[in-house]
Amino acid sequence: MKTIYMDNNATTKVADEVREEMIPFLSELYGNPSSMHSFGGQVGHKIANARRQVASLLGCQPDEIIFTSCGTESDNAAIKGSLAAAGNKTKIITSRVEHPAVLGTCRDLEHHGYSIVEIAVDKNGRIDLEQLEQSIDDDTALVSIMYANNETGVIFPIEKIANMIKSKGCIFHTDAVQAVGKIPLDLSKSSIDMLSLSGHKLHAPKGIGVLYVRKGTRLAPFMVGGHQEAGKRAGTENVPGIVALGKACELANKYMDEENTRVKEMRDALEKAILENSPDSFVNGDVDNRLPNTSNISFEYIEGEAILLMLNKYGICASSGSACTSGSLEPSHVLRAMGVPFTAAHGSIRFSLSRYNTMDEVNFVAEKMPEIVNQLRKLSPFVKN
Ligand code: PLP
Repeated sequence: MKTIYMDNNATTKVADEVREEMIPFLSELYGNPSSMHSFGGQVGHKIANARRQVASLLGCQPDEIIFTSCGTESDNAAIKGSLAAAGNKTKIITSRVEHPAVLGTCRDLEHHGYSIVEIAVDKNGRIDLEQLEQSIDDDTALVSIMYANNETGVIFPIEKIANMIKSKGCIFHTDAVQAVGKIPLDLSKSSIDMLSLSGHKLHAPKGIGVLYVRKGTRLAPFMVGGHQEAGKRAGTENVPGIVALGKACELANKYMDEENTRVKEMRDALEKAILENSPDSFVNGDVDNRLPNTSNISFEYIEGEAILLMLNKYGICASSGSACTSGSLEPSHVLRAMGVPFTAAHGSIRFSLSRYNTMDEVNFVAEKMPEIVNQLRKLSPFVKN
C-alpha cells in the first residue's frame, strides 16, 4: 500500500538532494573539523558553507548561527541561556499555545524562582497583543512567542511583536520551527533577538537544529566543554546533519514560491472538499493567516484517534489534536486555549502537506475523509441516527 504522507508538521521526508549531500560525511569525509590537519580542515570548510546557507535563508550573518541538536535544544538554550545572562530579572512572558519545548521549559523555571505569564489567544488562535504589551515591565527578562503554531498553522504578527518588545528594552526569542522553510523570513529587517529552527521540519534529517542569536545579544553558553560554535555550544559537531541542513535551507529558498502556491492550493482544495462533504466540521485557526501547508479540521461528535486509525488503513498519515494521556483522551492545549468546544476539540485532525504531495493524493484523501466521518458518526453515541 502506498503511503500518503500528510503529517509534515511532525516531521518531513529527507530530500534526495540533502541525503546525497550528507553521504560523503558518513563515509570518507569523517575528519574532525577542529583538527589541525587538512583532512579535518576540509570538513570545517563544509560546516562554514552550511552556516552561510542557513544564514542566507534567514537573512542574517553566518556567525549569528549556532548549530544545535534539534528545535527543543534551541528553545531550551535560548530561554535558559538568556536568563542566565539577564541579571536579577525574574519574569518570563510566553503564550498559552507554545510547543512544550517552550511551555515546558518556562513552567519548569517556575520551580526555580521565575514567574511566568502565558498570553491568551482568541477563538481563531490569534494572540492577545494588548495583554502582551501590558504584561511587559521592568522585571521582564525574556519574551518567547512562537512564529507559527504547529497544530493550527496560525502565524503570529512576529515583527510587530518584536518591535513592541524591543521598544520596551526586553529580549525576544521566537520558536520558528514550523515557519522556517514554509514562509519567507528576513532577519536583516527584524528586531528578533533569537530564533529556533529544526532540520527535520524542512527536509533535513532529525538530530540537527539551529539557534540564531543576533550579534550583541547576551547568552550564557548552554553546553560547556570545547570551543565549538564560538564557545556557545560545546561538543563535536554533527557534521552530516549540519551539511544536510545547509542543503535543505538552500532548497527551501528555491521552493519557497512553490510552498506558497502549489502546496497552498493543494491544502485549500483538500480543506474545501472535506468541509463541503462532511457536515458539522470546521477549520480551527485564523484561515487568512496560516502556514500554507497546514489545515486543522474539527469533526463534531467523533474522536480524532478513531479517524486516524481509519485513515491509517488507507495508508494516509495525519495527526490528531488530542493526546492519549493516562487513559483519557486529553484535547490539545492549543485548541483548549482557543476555546474550541470539547466535543469538537476531541475530533480534530491536522493535515500538513509538503512539496512532495500531489493533487492525486489530495483527491484520494478528500474522497476517503467524508466516508470515514460518516461511518464513525453512525457508531457515535452522540449522534441521533
Ligand atoms: N517547536 C515547535 C513549534 C515544534 O513544532 C516542534 C516539533 O514539533 C519543536 C519545537 C521541537 O522540535 P524538535 O522536534 O526538533 O525538538
